[in-house]
Amino acid sequence: SESRKGVGGGSNHFRGRVCCSTMYCIWFGHLYSLLKWTLKKFSSDSEVSFHVANLDDLHQKHIRWLRTLPRVKPFYAVKCNSTPAVIRMLSTLGTGFDCASKGEIELVLSLGVTPEKIIFAHTTKPQSHIKYASTRGISACHTRAKLVLRIAVDDSKSATRLSQKFGTKPSVVKKLLERCKELDLEVIGVSFHVGSGCTDSLAYRQAIEDARHVFDTVLLGFQMRLLDIGGGFPGKEGFQIQFDEFSKVINEALDEFFPADSGVQVIAEPGRYYVDSAFTLAVNVFAKKVVMDDNDRVMMYYISDGVFGSLNCLIYDPAHTNVAPYLHRVVESGEKRYRSIIWGPTCDSLDRVTATYWMPEVQVGDWLLIDNMGAYTVCCSSDFNCFYKAHVYPVLSAQTWNMFNLS
Ligand code: PLP
Repeated sequence: SESRKGVGGGSNHFRGRVCCSTMYCIWFGHLYSLLKWTLKKFSSDSEVSFHVANLDDLHQKHIRWLRTLPRVKPFYAVKCNSTPAVIRMLSTLGTGFDCASKGEIELVLSLGVTPEKIIFAHTTKPQSHIKYASTRGISACHTRAKLVLRIAVDDSKSATRLSQKFGTKPSVVKKLLERCKELDLEVIGVSFHVGSGCTDSLAYRQAIEDARHVFDTVLLGFQMRLLDIGGGFPGKEGFQIQFDEFSKVINEALDEFFPADSGVQVIAEPGRYYVDSAFTLAVNVFAKKVVMDDNDRVMMYYISDGVFGSLNCLIYDPAHTNVAPYLHRVVESGEKRYRSIIWGPTCDSLDRVTATYWMPEVQVGDWLLIDNMGAYTVCCSSDFNCFYKAHVYPVLSAQTWNMFNLS
């Protein structure tokens, strides 16, 4: 199979025959450069950047989840990437959905997801959103709602810490549960989030043990039956080793603190895990300047996406503070590389994609590719300066198409 890559990596190369339906592109046969094909098809008369969303990758991730964390039912965190094709694919695969707002609930319902597949798990909710959820039969947070107590846990080993903003400290748990009792509210479980971009499997173990303490504290007649272990799982290419390690620790902690016969249902809210590696971004080089630094040529490129668009992750996502663009052509090993400063398209000098990056010279009109662009990218993108947001082109294999009867 073809796996010749441009500089800096890249693995989304496919071999096959491709056809397009209105919603998806489907490819047939072996790996072929689908990305190349997509580039040719969608880039010929435009410089607008675009993502290729490989839905087969979601399928592979889901299979791995089911195999590795069999006791934990995933509710995909919609905030991470709410592209309709992603939601549809995950719905077909059978995940649930973790929604954080009325808008996210409306979106997943409009794509055919049924209310019992939705948890409304954001810790703070505007009243109007709670009322809306109640009218749609989502039984979280209204008078007949089933409540889950979010606890603050050690998130010090995560890129994005969440327990500073959300979660109850152990000292307050009892008081809070007593108040719920007074208000006749039904508390059914405990949730936590170890922080997004977690790097330490032991954070999950400690948090599961903390949750056990809360279950043990509840002597108030609540029927505690749900544990929600949140998100934080890795999803970039090469995620497997870390994910397997996390899963081993989680499975052991669950067996110790919440054994299968405890009757406690375990769920999670993975976001990054499902989508990170599925998206590849293609950006167009639309302007170029060569500057001299001492006697060295330094290349400055201006590309069609930047930190106000899909690459906002460079600013907002501490788990994604650098990217490695690579060329959309084979790079010979001896080819000279230049220090390259890559700028986004807007008039703001904050809009810088790389400061010191070594790559072969490219020309105006060339395309660069960036892998692992599925998590917290398109969802936070703006059209500052009225530059177009990147399009998303979902693709999937004929095999997957046929397997799920997706016509
Ligand atoms: N659940 C909640 C409540 C979150 O706040 C987040 C992310 O911020 C997630 C799930 C998804 O986390 P991740 O993308 O790290 O899996």
